[in-house]
Amino acid sequence: MSVSDILETRNAFSFEVFPPKTDVGMEKLCGEGGVLDQLYTLNPDYISCTYGAGGTNVGKNLEVLKKIKADGKCIPVTHFTCIGNTKEGIKEQLQTYLDNGIDHMLALRGDLPFGWTGTGGDLHYATELVKFVRQEFGDKFTIAVAGSPEGHIACRSLEADIAFLKQKQDNGADYIMTQLCWDMDQFRYWLDAIRAAGIWMPVDVGIMPILDQAATINMALSRNGCVMPRELCEIISKNWIFPNPFEKEPFDANVAEKKASFKEAGIEYTIRQIDEYRACGINGIHLYALNKFDDVARIAKEAGLLDLI
Ligand code: FAD
Repeated sequence: MSVSDILETRNAFSFEVFPPKTDVGMEKLCGEGGVLDQLYTLNPDYISCTYGAGGTNVGKNLEVLKKIKADGKCIPVTHFTCIGNTKEGIKEQLQTYLDNGIDHMLALRGDLPFGWTGTGGDLHYATELVKFVRQEFGDKFTIAVAGSPEGHIACRSLEADIAFLKQKQDNGADYIMTQLCWDMDQFRYWLDAIRAAGIWMPVDVGIMPILDQAATINMALSRNGCVMPRELCEIISKNWIFPNPFEKEPFDANVAEKKASFKEAGIEYTIRQIDEYRACGINGIHLYALNKFDDVARIAKEAGLLDLI
């Protein structure tokens, strides 16, 4: 069964992990009793693994996905970017995934490194990547594409971004995985707007658990320009670590307590956000597991995600 088939019949529930840089990290994620083994106990429909733009971590990405495939507990989905790659290179890499039984992908352009004005490869946008994959591989891949409820940070307008999303559908994409979005009014507006534009693809919503102040600020502002609702800003402010959450040696005497109280408030916030998303009629929840288990499992359980299956 493919993720598309699942999304046609019911809501999906999935995780995202990233390829660790070190052998210790790989063991923690992929070793016996490691994070992947623990995540399987929650019965996700699929687990996706991120891909370093330009293929920087392709070896570890494939290793993680091969393990998920071999374990046979859920569908492995690879993220894949076209920046810095030729058509031949893309074909070769995608064939390697297929040869290893990995036939689900999230087709992305990838973030342009600072100072770049183009992708430095044969393809320039995710729309082209989707078209190329369908041309070369027919229906062998189930293809997810990114959707940005607030508009991609570089888009000239939300309308243009939605038109390109429609083009991804027209070129053969199967479903949407959304960019982080905490602004629920904006999300509802976008959902109505894409449906009005004739985009019928199921929407699988990406959720980053709020567990750490610095990571939350970083994720919102380093690339994506996400709006932070007042409630989330208050959680950050009430637990602010002085001089700032990025400081390696803060002078704040209450660091441990503040981290714990931020995490508690963040988990509750994340669960309420999932409730709101589910009330919008979305098709799936995709939790960024951040290569962790305990906090993510608590969120999945308390948000009622385990009952979707
Ligand atoms: P595109 O859809 O190509 O859009 C890029 C920009 O170009 C947008 O502003 C869009 O409006 C515009 N545009 C699109 N098509 C056209 C066109 N035909 N003509 C003119 N303009 C156009 N990055 C990674 O490196 N690795 C990952 O593993 C990864 N995982 C991600 C997972 C999710 C769920 C999401 C949402 C993003 C992920 N990213 C990842 C980030 C992603 O690569 C960046 O957001 C990137 O900047 C844009 O990718 P895209 O596929 O949305 O690009």
